[in-house]
Order: sequence, then structure tokens, then C-alpha cells
Amino acid sequence: MSESTDCIFCMIVEGKLPSSKVYESEHVYAFLDLNPVHEGHTLIIPKKHCENIFEADPAIGADIIRAMQRVGEALKKVTGCAGVNVLQNNGRAAGQMVFHLHWHVIPRFANDGLALWPQKKYASMDAMNEMAEALRKELA
Ligand code: AMP
Ligand code: ZN
Repeated sequence: MSESTDCIFCMIVEGKLPSSKVYESEHVYAFLDLNPVHEGHTLIIPKKHCENIFEADPAIGADIIRAMQRVGEALKKVTGCAGVNVLQNNGRAAGQMVFHLHWHVIPRFANDGLALWPQKKYASMDAMNEMAEALRKELA
């Protein structure tokens, strides 16, 4: 079902590389990240290769959301986590290292010391509104 011969996540879907599988559905495969932020950190991927969110078939969206719900609920029960982060990187600049679309589902615990994104302020409300206006124009 996957198609990129030099992609490690395709090889995992095809069983050519080992993985610690946690969940599978028609279009989706989920397995443990080798380098977890916290134990249980799971990767959810479409079985069919695509590099990033921009290349993804929106039709798999429901299957992906369902996988996030199932895996997230399982993580809460198994690890006792109080919440989960769902993160997804697109492009090297955004921290993507494996170029087969994937979502990280990361168990989180109260006061676990992680601060995933330091936030800034807009220079002004006008600057913020200009940004929204530019995006609305692009999306119209
Ligand atoms: P990203 O930076 O979003 O591309 O994340 C790629 C993730 O894939 C990293 O967190 C790696 O630890 C993880 N990873 C890479 N190779 C494997 C593998 N063979 N099995 C499980 N996780 C992997
Ligand atoms: Zn792939």
C-alpha cells in the first residue's frame, strides 16, 4: 500500500523494518517512537506514502483523527498521563526528520517540565489584525 522504496516508514508499514506497533486501521499505522519524549510516545502515519500535510489526501482525515483518539485514550489508561500533545512537523525548518507524514502523540503529565513552544507577542493589535487580513485574502 505504501510506495516509496527508500522511506523508512514505508519499510515499517511493509514489515521490512521492525516497529513496536500499537494500532492499525485501513489507512493508518501507529507505532512507538524510538526516541520518546515520554514512554508511550506514538507515531501515527498514513500507510500510503506522502511527504507532508500538503501532499496528504484529506479523505484519510477521519481515519487519522480516530487513530489519535484511540491511541490518546490508550495512553491515558496505560501511562496514567493527564493529557497528550499531538504534533506534526512539515519541512526541515519545522523539525521534520522523516519525510513520510506522521503525527506524534505524546503523553503529558502535570508539571513534567516540558515547554514545547515559547510564545511571543504581536507588536500591536493592528499588526495582529493585518496578519489575519493577509491570511483571509490568501484563503478567499
Ligand atoms: P520528525 O522530527 O517529526 O520527522 O520525527 C521523526 C521521529 O521518528 C523522531 O521522533 C524519531 O525518533 C522517530 N523515528 C525515526 N526512525 C524510527 C524508527 N525506525 N522507529 C520508530 N521511530 C523512529
Ligand atoms: Zn514513506
